[in-house]
Amino acid sequence: REAEERFVAANPTSRRLHARAAEVMPGGNTRTVLFYDPFPLTLARGEGCYVWDADEHAYTDFLVEYTAGLYGHSNPVIQGAVEAALSEGIVLGGPNLLEAGFAAALCDRFPAVERIRFCNSGTEANLFALSAARAATGRQKVVAFKGGYHGGVLYFAGPNPLNAPFPIELADYNDSEGATALIAALGGDLAAVIVEPMLGSGGCIPAELEFLQALRVATEKTGALLIFDEVMTSRLAPGGLHGALGLTPDLVTLGKYLGGGLTFGAFGGRADIMDRFDPRRADAWPHAGTFNNNVLTMAAGLAGLTQIYTPKTAVTLNKRGDKLRLRLNAAAAKLGLPVQVTGRGSMMCLHVAGGPVRRPGDVTMPKALRDLLHFDLLAAGQYIARRGMINLSLPMTDSDLDGLVEAFAEMLETRRSLIE
Ligand code: PLP
Repeated sequence: REAEERFVAANPTSRRLHARAAEVMPGGNTRTVLFYDPFPLTLARGEGCYVWDADEHAYTDFLVEYTAGLYGHSNPVIQGAVEAALSEGIVLGGPNLLEAGFAAALCDRFPAVERIRFCNSGTEANLFALSAARAATGRQKVVAFKGGYHGGVLYFAGPNPLNAPFPIELADYNDSEGATALIAALGGDLAAVIVEPMLGSGGCIPAELEFLQALRVATEKTGALLIFDEVMTSRLAPGGLHGALGLTPDLVTLGKYLGGGLTFGAFGGRADIMDRFDPRRADAWPHAGTFNNNVLTMAAGLAGLTQIYTPKTAVTLNKRGDKLRLRLNAAAAKLGLPVQVTGRGSMMCLHVAGGPVRRPGDVTMPKALRDLLHFDLLAAGQYIARRGMINLSLPMTDSDLDGLVEAFAEMLETRRSLIE
């Protein structure tokens, strides 16, 4: 209560803007994930890895737009690419000079992606990948995992009355036996299994290799397609997480940072499946979308992937993330607290949990404590997600990371008795 009151008192402008916004947008904004009680901070601007709210407080941005802000807020290469594209016309209405190059760069980069098509969001990418799997197999059912997030109409962390109209069966994450049994039981009715190779929104919980291998074997046996949702995780290694783990899903979905910070989604994979989208075929599947090849995204995405987030940079960034996670965990261990930072590379999440965290149900953090820790970190100038997610962006310096470690250790010390 006290932390919340301090937050309200410190943010009169955000409060006023939120109240006004809530008159026309239910909840005051247009993205459920950005809402938190009593109101989310309104952000006025960003530069490098910093953001400023409407009351002019500065924060180090560790939310990183839920991984999409990899390049930071003002990368000159991205800005230059967008400005150059702007000056050539924005809505051309034909294939443009950038998209084939961007598609080739993505196919080069991600080993399971032989062919690719663009759309406008990760949600759309997953809807198309699932629809393609259903069309390819002539089957209806889909297996997904509890705690998985594949977009607003495909999230499985709780009741979701808006779920897309696919018959979906849920299995436990990291439960190879359970998933294998379910896939076998659904047999010839199962079109696809969709899985994040690390749960992202579900708390940065990595899949065990044996679990993903079991999904590969089980789907091959029944002829269902295996879809890896790498909308977040493709940043974790030069060839995405599937590349790092040496796994070959049938389809892969992409999004977030790959659009250079602009709206983006893509789905791709096996040539024999994706080639069904070739309109020259008599049996072609349709896939349209006015902004699928919008020139600004194509320009920003291509420049980002080829000039900035090279394979070498991907390795370096994720090593820095691994090191940061170790430091945060060491700070918690030093105080003997049941606090864990899970994740891999440049994506991580803060949890309170006594035992191993293999699936979302293993986390025991009460909401009030989660809210409190979030208020504490905001007050210390560290902008993270309310749910505890922390991501790295490329402009972050060692001193930015040190700042988070210090604020984190201080927060744990202050709240020690509550966490224990
Ligand atoms: N898949 C995963 C794993 C995601 O984390 C997200 C978004 O957070 C999506 C899909 C949906 O992407 P978008 O928000 O671009 O629709």
